[in-house]
Amino acid sequence: METITLLKKLNVKRHYDVIVAGGGVAGCATAVTVAKRGKSVLLLEKSNVLGGLATLGLVNFFVPMCNGRGKQIIFGLAEKWLRDSAKYGFDTIPKPWKNGEPKEYTEIRYTQRYSPYIFAIQLMEDVLGSGADLLYDVIATEPVMEQNTVKGVITQSKSGMEYYTCSEFIDVTGDCDVLRAGNIPTVKGENFYTYYGRMVTLDTCKSAIENNDILKAFTPCRGGEVNLFGDKQPSDIPLWSGISVEEVTDYLVRNQRHMFERIKNGDRKSREIATLPLMPQFRTTCHLKADYTFTVNDAYKHFDDSICAINDFEHKDHLFEVPLRSICRKDYPNVLTAGRGACGDGYGWDLLRVIPPAILTGQAAGEVACMAIDNKIGVASVDVKKLQSILESDNIMVHFPDEYVPEDKTVIIHGKCMQGHL
Ligand SMILES: Cc1cc2nc3c(=O)[nH]c(=O)nc-3n(C[C@H](O)[C@H](O)[C@H](O)COP(=O)(O)OP(=O)(O)OC[C@H]3O[C@@H](n4cnc5c(N)ncnc54)[C@H](O)[C@@H]3O)c2cc1C
Repeated sequence: METITLLKKLNVKRHYDVIVAGGGVAGCATAVTVAKRGKSVLLLEKSNVLGGLATLGLVNFFVPMCNGRGKQIIFGLAEKWLRDSAKYGFDTIPKPWKNGEPKEYTEIRYTQRYSPYIFAIQLMEDVLGSGADLLYDVIATEPVMEQNTVKGVITQSKSGMEYYTCSEFIDVTGDCDVLRAGNIPTVKGENFYTYYGRMVTLDTCKSAIENNDILKAFTPCRGGEVNLFGDKQPSDIPLWSGISVEEVTDYLVRNQRHMFERIKNGDRKSREIATLPLMPQFRTTCHLKADYTFTVNDAYKHFDDSICAINDFEHKDHLFEVPLRSICRKDYPNVLTAGRGACGDGYGWDLLRVIPPAILTGQAAGEVACMAIDNKIGVASVDVKKLQSILESDNIMVHFPDEYVPEDKTVIIHGKCMQGHL
């Protein structure tokens, strides 16, 4: 149905200062940030749990938030949520980092493997506690555009089709679903054959009891086992972008069959699948074609419009800054993205999208949206210096310190020199 015809049948349910589509970690960070600034914000989540890949997707691991030499780079809400996640569920924060940045040099990195479901509930409490409105089990289907401005979003839920208007719109669906529906420029990605659930066996239960550690009760059960870099991607398995229903289904069917083949003949009294991943484990599906594409060539560069410093989670030393231009476009004045939707290429996209940077770009998107409302300007035109001082007051490191930059600035990623590689 044409949007115009549809709108004639739909009344505006409510106006919000900011609508956030997608309650992954990036969306939660955005919603909490906007609400704390006293603006009205609606967070729309398609599933029944917050956290996205970081909870439902069973990716329950804060990748390193330090430079691999004992210096913390990622702070802000990412630091708060890492610490919170260790309060009620698994606490796997490495010893040197238990009480914050270590005083001594260490190459042990600052990480945390947490309980996905306990963390999901904590996210919900943070979102609701901030004053944001939350709707579960609702799909943000398409934006209503007036030229390049998003006037509102059409939703589909148990209540049927509804229409909410907004001043600012942030697509943090991870797949830029709403941006694509509004023909806002995006770029497709590719995904490897990766799929894992969680299993319990009598042996893992025994080990949990012997070690008095419930974490040991779980072990992965796998479909495809291809890693982040695509090593050993089978030649007969396609790379999925993950943004069509056929691709999503093909990915799920192949992986679930593969997993079943592996376990079906095991002793059924001694094992059970505790959970399958409840969303496709696609890393890079679709991002905004923003004003800047972040790549590994940006290593050790300072940006005037940096919104946060981030580190490489796989390799030590490599430091980056994320420019505001990578989460918005000048020609779409009230549209932002964050997390997996931020604009990066190759391993640069990987660096941007993992949990800690996704939280920080979400936080920054929230601050930018509020500034744009207060100053009645487009998101790409906010006063960057003022934004940076707000982000610093949010405990975010905006620029990495030059003393952390090594003498040898060669960037080797997964054994390959990446200078000049996009
Ligand atoms: C296999 C794999 C392993 C990974 N390993 C790690 C790791 O060890 N550590 C790490 O830090 N990162 C890891 N990552 C990356 C990380 O999990 C994600 O990049 C990060 O969690 C992304 O957060 P996000 O909020 O941007 O997106 P998502 O987590 O994708 O959240 C998007 C949310 O939007 C919702 N949504 C989607 N469409 C709509 C719609 N139309 N309307 C309403 N809601 C919608 C979804 O239900 C979801 O909740 C891994 C990713 C994968 C796939």
